Amino acid sequence: MSTPSDPIDALLSAHGLRRTAAARRVLGWLLAHPDTSYTHAQLQAALAGEGDAADSAALDRVTLYRLIDRLTQVGLLLCRVDASRARRYQAMPAGVHAMPHFECQSCHRDSPLENALQASAGDLDRAAQSALEALKALGYQGMSLDFAVRGVCADCATSVKGLPA
Ligand SMILES: [Zn+2]
Repeated sequence: MSTPSDPIDALLSAHGLRRTAAARRVLGWLLAHPDTSYTHAQLQAALAGEGDAADSAALDRVTLYRLIDRLTQVGLLLCRVDASRARRYQAMPAGVHAMPHFECQSCHRDSPLENALQASAGDLDRAAQSALEALKALGYQGMSLDFAVRGVCADCATSVKGLPA
């Protein structure tokens, strides 16, 4: 067992994940495209397109789904539901501790809250960082934090009279 020198291997190890070729490919792709979020299908298509000759075996759907779930659970990926209710995945931005987002119970849109919260977003991030550091000092590892606010978004609140049950 050697200490992984590859940054992707190091990330996988640090989060208790096996450093498989599939895991390297998926995480490597998302880290290389940090500003893009992908649905399962889009990610599968993107990875199939980039396969080189030595690694041409397409990732099967089930493996990809499981892998994405694991990467999301350990906080390496960010999962958001778009307006058409599709789950979209993106690499977790480095140095971000709490990504506040709003889940509307009426239109089911999942939107980031940084802009709406403005200065409070910074306070939240600092609070999240100190909470994570306190837990780390106690020996907790591989932590991620999800800050979700649920309710009815401003658009729905003003346009819909009766809310769905
Ligand atoms: Zn809404």
